[in-house]
Amino acid sequence: MNKAESQRIAAYLELLGYQLAPAPQNADLIILNTCVVRQSAEDKVLGTISYLKGIKNGNPHLPILVTGCFVNSKVEQLERRFPHIDLFFKPGDYPELLNWAQKRGIAVSKTDINLPLTKHATPDAFVPIIQGCNNFCSYCIVPYRRGREKSRPLMNIVHEVSRLVKCGTKEVTLLGQNVNSYGHDLPSQPDLSDLLAELYNIDGLARIRFLTNHPKDMSQKLIKTIVSLDKVCEHISLPFQAGDNDILRAMRRGYTIEQYWQLVSTIRNYIPEVALSTDAIVGFPGETDGQFEQTLALLSEIRFDTVHVAAYSPRPGTIASRKYQDNVPPEIKKERLNKIEALQAKIAAEINSRLRGRIVEVLVEGKKRGKWYGRARSNKLVFFENDDDCSGQLINVTINTTSPWALQGEIKSKRLSKNKE
Ligand code: SF4
Repeated sequence: MNKAESQRIAAYLELLGYQLAPAPQNADLIILNTCVVRQSAEDKVLGTISYLKGIKNGNPHLPILVTGCFVNSKVEQLERRFPHIDLFFKPGDYPELLNWAQKRGIAVSKTDINLPLTKHATPDAFVPIIQGCNNFCSYCIVPYRRGREKSRPLMNIVHEVSRLVKCGTKEVTLLGQNVNSYGHDLPSQPDLSDLLAELYNIDGLARIRFLTNHPKDMSQKLIKTIVSLDKVCEHISLPFQAGDNDILRAMRRGYTIEQYWQLVSTIRNYIPEVALSTDAIVGFPGETDGQFEQTLALLSEIRFDTVHVAAYSPRPGTIASRKYQDNVPPEIKKERLNKIEALQAKIAAEINSRLRGRIVEVLVEGKKRGKWYGRARSNKLVFFENDDDCSGQLINVTINTTSPWALQGEIKSKRLSKNKE
């Protein structure tokens, strides 16, 4: 979401005549987009703000703006604490940014900042569809910083995707903290399936993905939609967070492990080749060795394609930070995190090895260390060699070698294919 928002702001500024500077020292304007989902991210933000102070000291007229989840509702306190920052604006609060620009005599454009300019349209693009979250999971700071759910009007999204496709985009990833809630706050209450069906009709759009799903809100209708619309990739992100029901309850996740299992079975029943990714948190307050073992057991049994694991860190203001003591020692959190990563590397290696000899369709994103790379429909990273520039093309690649993290192969053919790996 932050990446999508940064792209939007950068594109809008380009319209105003700015261009990307190679380094902060060369810039006429600096905008720092921040994440504070974990303490380590917040520490990084604080480090960067302090680094920018040095730059400001050398160039006192350089405007520095800060946005993203670091900006809480106590803006005045932030202003007092960091006087070298010219403006703090909340994530997505573009009117505040434009207001600031106008006050400084910068002519703003009538173009809607929510509609990214397509000058730099990439083969794959992020498109936010719903902002904020109503769930208040006990560990999560997002609802406090991004506010309650707010969906973008359906036709506004269709319009944006059509513009992107006309400029060369072939794949869109629809973004939201909880995409399954999309539309409930709009007058005609469309849902994510309705949106997918509308986007499916856009000629030239080859692939659609969406992130992130909430297990308690993912409907059977949506699963059936994925099956019926072949542009929708068989790749589903479904965070489970913990393998123990007591921990899930303390996290306020709104489902049990049994319900999660049921959902995974339904998805696999309808989409046998689905690639599943998930998120897990280790070291939530009170998590015992036995409860952690339940998380490991769930990972071993479900066998996800990708797992993002994080160690719990209390976020001030959240329910968990007020109610529970962060009582799992850091070294135990680290040990649990390492265990999950080792287990997942083994599982992913096994899953990926089954793709050897198979043909996968790759949307080529660019070149790295002499090899072209892109994503398969399953979202797996694929590398291959080719003499010609094939950036932005859909190419069939035969997989030769695999690792837990990527696939390597050789070109089979360059054509739009509906083959699914
Ligand atoms: S659903 Fe996601 S974004 Fe919303 S509160 Fe829970 S973890 Fe945070």
